[in-house]
Parts: sequence; structure tokens; C-alpha cells
Amino acid sequence: MMPVVPPAYRGRFAPSPSGPLHFGSLIAAVGSYLQAKSQQGQWLVRMEDIDKPRMQAGAADSILRTLERYQLLWDGGVWVQSQRLDRYQQVLDLLKQQQLTYACNCTRSRIQSLGQGYDGFCRDKNLTEGQLAWRLKAPATATSFTDQHAGEIQIPATLAAEDYILKRRDGLFAYQLVVVVDDMDQGITEVVRGADLIDLTSRQQALFRLLGAAAPDYLHLPLAVLEPGFKLSKQNHAPAVENWPVSETLTAVLRFLGQSPPAELIGADAKELLAWACSAWQIRQIPRQNEQKATDFL
Ligand code: GLU
Repeated sequence: MMPVVPPAYRGRFAPSPSGPLHFGSLIAAVGSYLQAKSQQGQWLVRMEDIDKPRMQAGAADSILRTLERYQLLWDGGVWVQSQRLDRYQQVLDLLKQQQLTYACNCTRSRIQSLGQGYDGFCRDKNLTEGQLAWRLKAPATATSFTDQHAGEIQIPATLAAEDYILKRRDGLFAYQLVVVVDDMDQGITEVVRGADLIDLTSRQQALFRLLGAAAPDYLHLPLAVLEPGFKLSKQNHAPAVENWPVSETLTAVLRFLGQSPPAELIGADAKELLAWACSAWQIRQIPRQNEQKATDFL
């Protein structure tokens, strides 16, 4: 009898090149890398450069050079979202044909005045004129899902029930659409990323279902924060790790992820540290909380 071969593991790291890599994004890179490589899987890198106004010139290149400096070497070529606009439009058209979307011309100020969640104002208007955004008619989206690390996660009902945007009024495709199309087209078997995206997961799973594809597994890592509730991000000018000392920084990332290298690896280079981390990697050692203070590890 032929042995049953499980599908090969394919993970990914999907930075948005709106600035250089910082400690928080390095954690997502290392966590997704180790989860893939400890299972002899593939680890892909995808540049999420879809939101043009937020992109910073040279950031994509700087992110790739920094990954190389930390010996986080990806498989295959780099997948670039801005080169896939035709594909995103094709998927949007498919959803339109199935009457799963509607056009919306609500202004930003109207949406902001609603507070939480879009109210479906344009759902039955059949708008065809003017600058239109495209929204998904919220499918029956689960209000919980099972995270590979944190277990059962509850999603706020307003978020699950919202008719969210797939394409914006300014013509830009929304993260919500492209992340699913890409994870599907790249054959990703598990998404490993920061816990800031945890609440959006059931939407993404629901979109996979609408597209007739099986969703990957999801594993969320604790977020690095400055203070409770304030994640390290490009927006709050988190310092770039590109010139930080490799060994110390990688050791701090591993400790953040609950994997403490043994004393004899103090000062070891990135290759040695990653080889050790790959063989010692245990997801159950990753701290359970959604956030941890970065300065406790640096
Ligand atoms: N591009 C997103 C970010 O940099 C990550 C998206 C994802 O991993 O699904 O925050």
C-alpha cells in the first residue's frame, strides 16, 4: 500500500514595504520561517505593495537585504502584489458575477461617523455611476476559529458581519481580497503572522470558501508592543533592524518566541542560531498572550 503523504508545507512571510524591517516584523519573519523549515517546508516571501500611497521607495529592497543579512533565505522568487492586478480584478469579477458584491459610494466621513462596522447602506442600490468601492455581501462568517497556537478565538460579531471592501473607491484593491487570492494561488498551507490580524482570520476563511478553495491553517504570534496596545509599527517609527547586531537581535527574537538558545550559542552567527532554532522549535513554547513588550527582550 502507498503511504499517505500529507501535503507539503508551504508558509510565507508577507511584509508591506511601507518602511524597513523592524523588530516586530522580524519576529513574524523568523516565526514563519522556523515553522516552515522545521517541517522541511517551503518558505515564500510576498511583497504586499498593494497600497501604493503607503509604500516607501526602496523599502522592498531593504527588507529583502535585511532578511538575507539574518540568513532568512526564501524559496523561489519574490511574489509581488503590484504585478498581479489583473488576477485580483479577475477574482473580483467572478464574485460580482455571482452577485456576491455590491457597489458603494459612501464617503469616508459617512463611514467614519458610523463608528464600528459598515451598515450596508448601499447594498440594494445597484449603483453604477461615479467613483465606486466594491464590497462583499458578508457571507455567513463564523465568529470563532481555531488558531494553531492560541486555540479557539472569538471574533467580534460586528466585524464578522460587516460587508467589507474588496476594492476601494480610489481603485486600489483591498488587503482583504488580495491576501486570500495570493494565499490561494501560492498554495499556502499555513499562515503564520502577528496577532494584530487575528480578528480578520474568519473573514479570510469565509472568502476562501466563496472561492471554492480550502483555507490554510492560521497561527498567530504575539505582537511586539512599546506599551500595552501600542504595537511596534512603521507608522510609529519603530527603528529598523537592518543595522542591528545580527546575533543579539536574532537571539532576542527567539527569546520573544519562547525559544531560548543555550548558553554555548551566545554570539553565534545567524546560520548557527537558525539551525539550532529549527531543530528545537516548539510552538507550544510560544507565549500565549497576544502581546509582549519588546524592551523586555532587547
Ligand atoms: N502585509 C501584512 C503586514 O505587513 C501582513 C499580512 C498577512 O500576513 O496576512 O502587516
